[in-house]
Amino acid sequence: MALLRAPSVRIPPRAAVDRAKIELERRLGPSKVLTDAEACAPYGADDSDVEGRPPDAVVLAASTQDVATVLAVAEACDVPVTPRAGGTGRTGGAVPVAGGIVLATGAIARVKEIDRANLVAVVEPGVVTGDLHRAVEGEGLFYAPDPNSLDSCCLGGNLAENAGGPRAFKYGVTRDWVLGLEACLVGGKVLRTGKRTVKGVTGYDVTALLVGSEGTLAVFTEATLRLVPNPPAVGTLLALFSDVGAAARAVGAIVAAGVVPRCLEMLDAATLAAVRAQGVSIDDRAGAMLLVEVDGEGVEGALERVGEAASGQPGCVDVLVAQDAGQRDRLWAARRMLSKATRKLARHKLSEDVVVPRTRIADLLAKTDAIGEETGVRHLAYGHAGDGNLHVNFLWNDDAERPAVDLAIGLLMRATVDLGGTLSGEHGIGVSKAQYLPLEQSEDLIALQRRIKHAFDPKDLLNPGKIFPTAGHRAC
Ligand SMILES: Cc1cc2nc3c(=O)[nH]c(=O)nc-3n(C[C@H](O)[C@H](O)[C@H](O)COP(=O)(O)OP(=O)(O)OC[C@H]3O[C@@H](n4cnc5c(N)ncnc54)[C@H](O)[C@@H]3O)c2cc1C
Repeated sequence: MALLRAPSVRIPPRAAVDRAKIELERRLGPSKVLTDAEACAPYGADDSDVEGRPPDAVVLAASTQDVATVLAVAEACDVPVTPRAGGTGRTGGAVPVAGGIVLATGAIARVKEIDRANLVAVVEPGVVTGDLHRAVEGEGLFYAPDPNSLDSCCLGGNLAENAGGPRAFKYGVTRDWVLGLEACLVGGKVLRTGKRTVKGVTGYDVTALLVGSEGTLAVFTEATLRLVPNPPAVGTLLALFSDVGAAARAVGAIVAAGVVPRCLEMLDAATLAAVRAQGVSIDDRAGAMLLVEVDGEGVEGALERVGEAASGQPGCVDVLVAQDAGQRDRLWAARRMLSKATRKLARHKLSEDVVVPRTRIADLLAKTDAIGEETGVRHLAYGHAGDGNLHVNFLWNDDAERPAVDLAIGLLMRATVDLGGTLSGEHGIGVSKAQYLPLEQSEDLIALQRRIKHAFDPKDLLNPGKIFPTAGHRAC
């Protein structure tokens, strides 16, 4: 496997690690502390190609108190801690690049409250996102953030990455749904931030700062989330196009028609080929697809306007409306399996999550083709076109191709910024993209963020080596 080298971080001395292990076992009991190398190994990786160091210890936390204890021991012994939830992250956020302690929060997993009158849910970080959806929908309510990994990722990871998903076009990303947090700081202090009301402007918005902080500022132990009533109806439509340029133009036309779909997803020709290879039958004339979903009142009228906007575009091959919930579910099952289906196309695959203004999608795709030609690296693209957030995937078989892949990624990052976009729409910066941060953000802005990190974690013990470039990251 062609792995991405770990950043340059301080590795804790053996004596400090041994002291921490003894202290953790004494304070938490041996059943919550794994130290055997084989038992710890699965906690050393996530869904990225980032290479870390094997964790020296893994704590299976079961409560806020356990989390606070780990963070107190870490500070007392000067040992780094990497928080972890479902381990589905794509940028190495949960990978312990300095070894030390992995703090697994997956077992702190209660939906503590669903309050229908105040439209609020109180949840713990180990709750699987799809389970929360089912729990609130059972009460006639709706929690919108829906990463495609929703049956394996947890709310703790969603909060840390500010996860998005197909429904972000209409409903926003995780941060838009978080009212308040309980979070533990290095040293073991437990903080409550935010509120339980939609309105509230007291002090700095520390909740918003912590959401998306990629496990580098604090460890979440509880979140108060906003809910809305479940939309009364949902309609889904599939539009097929001869090529991805026509599909990109249709995205603009649909938005200009005044419809706000909850999802507006795009698949390019290579992605469609991967889906066909899984046995899904798709019109041979189609070289690109849009999957559009609308919800709320007046779904039929909205679908009609979307259909007209799509079919009015030169290059539109067909427009199909899902006739029932079964058809809708099958379409989404096909969308959610894209990551796995495209992974079968080569030994290695890296999925980027760049964002450009919606009107520049066609430019980004053209630029991606040019990068593919220049570097000789195979690529495909699909994703949340309504948000301008595309998963450009690079594919390769031979480890010797890795330098060309790195070149392609660097060129993609630069092109994204040149088009007025941003490096990450939902996966975070983590380790994988830290070296590219200076392409998008000024030295002063990065320095300000480093000072914020220092205020929370002066000894750089919480998830070191993430977000900010270190000497060990490959140069841009
Ligand atoms: C097939 C597939 C599809 C995906 N689709 C999407 C998508 O549509 N949208 C999207 O946004 N992402 C997507 N992802 C990426 C990933 O699922 C998300 O980033 C998700 O939010 C990670 O959650 P997790 O529980 O797996 O977190 P982990 O991978 O365990 O951790 C992610 C980060 O959160 C930190 N963290 C974990 N728990 C805590 C805690 N309790 N307190 C503080 N920090 C913590 C970790 O240190 C790490 O930095 C996809 C991934 C896969 C494999």
